[in-house]
Amino acid sequence: MDDKLMLMIPGPTPVPEKALLALAKHPIGHRSGDFSQIMAEVTENLKWLHQTQNDVLILTGSGTAAMEAGIINFLKRGDRVLCGCNGKFGDRWAEISKAYGLNVEIISAEWGAPLDPEQFRERLEADAEKEIKAVILTHSETSTGVLNDLETINRHVKAHGEALIIVDAVTSLGATHLPIDEWGLDVVGSGSQKGYMIPPGLGFVSVSPKAWEAYKTADLPRYYLDLGPYRKSATKNSNPFTPPVNLFYALQVTLQMMKAEGLENIFARHQRMTQITRAALKAMNLPLLAPDEAPSNAVTAVRPPESLDAERVRSVMRKKFDIALAGGQDHLKGKIFRIGHLGFVCDRDLLCAIAALESTVRELGYEGAAPGAGLNAANKVAIAS
Ligand SMILES: *Cc1c(COP(=O)(O)O)cnc(C)c1O
Repeated sequence: MDDKLMLMIPGPTPVPEKALLALAKHPIGHRSGDFSQIMAEVTENLKWLHQTQNDVLILTGSGTAAMEAGIINFLKRGDRVLCGCNGKFGDRWAEISKAYGLNVEIISAEWGAPLDPEQFRERLEADAEKEIKAVILTHSETSTGVLNDLETINRHVKAHGEALIIVDAVTSLGATHLPIDEWGLDVVGSGSQKGYMIPPGLGFVSVSPKAWEAYKTADLPRYYLDLGPYRKSATKNSNPFTPPVNLFYALQVTLQMMKAEGLENIFARHQRMTQITRAALKAMNLPLLAPDEAPSNAVTAVRPPESLDAERVRSVMRKKFDIALAGGQDHLKGKIFRIGHLGFVCDRDLLCAIAALESTVRELGYEGAAPGAGLNAANKVAIAS
């Protein structure tokens, strides 16, 4: 059906109507007083969302632009860095770092498992010469639905003293408690089409004073993503280049919505969506990729048995119910499907998606659970919490 599409992928995420309407307004001049006012409000509210007094800079680009900016502004050619790799986005960190000639040491875990903080501790403690300049990792690994234990890994980084901690928080910011100042996170990148509830196009980077110190001696090539000019312009509520003005209108609206809901409530809602989803899938006897100890609040990945084709599940869900689920990436392509529950998502969306999923797997001949078991389990969680 036209206009019935329900996006249940971990980005782009659904956009509230208020934000869609804001997008439809005429653009205004980005050097105007009116735009400066929006910029001022948006920047202040971003700091609130990021739980930080650090600079939060806004880039035109997707989340990967924020990641790249997080590398090239703070490191030097040949710097030794530790990269955590347990999924597509951890791998992306390593690829960017290698592309810029960094000396990359990878700490990996199987896709679907969280990174082991002990491995970070060992490498950092062994580094008496303080050669490791940064520890780089993804908080919520969207490709597998795993949340890495950033808090513990960061503690080991702090004990090391020298290394910066650089974090991809693209699907944890706005979904999971991530207190940047309390933990002392140096560089944190994210993107607009995820927890921010607006379309793709903006990247966000928060930068600590320690990272700005490193900026002074960083020597990797950069121009459009040089954060210095962004920082300078931000003091005047402006941008070095023309920003996507309409996305700022939408961001202004969604940040106001988030403030009205409150951080605690936002995190609790995402946790609730995660619990509803996981309970339902378990009751359907569909194996979850991420363990109970480390679920992302943004996305749940399912690895169905051989007899139930993940791509056929997605295709029936899309064709029959207008519900878009995400597939697997790289070697998990065709092997898993992922249910996004990030951003503008409520109980109704999940209950509806689970009912549709039960119908879908039934149509595909799956007999691993009693019909209705998933929805029943989901309801139990939804009603109790
Ligand atoms: C979406 C996402 C990104 C950014 O991807 P873009 O396509 O560049 O926006 C980076 N990291 C994670 C964990 C993501 O989920």
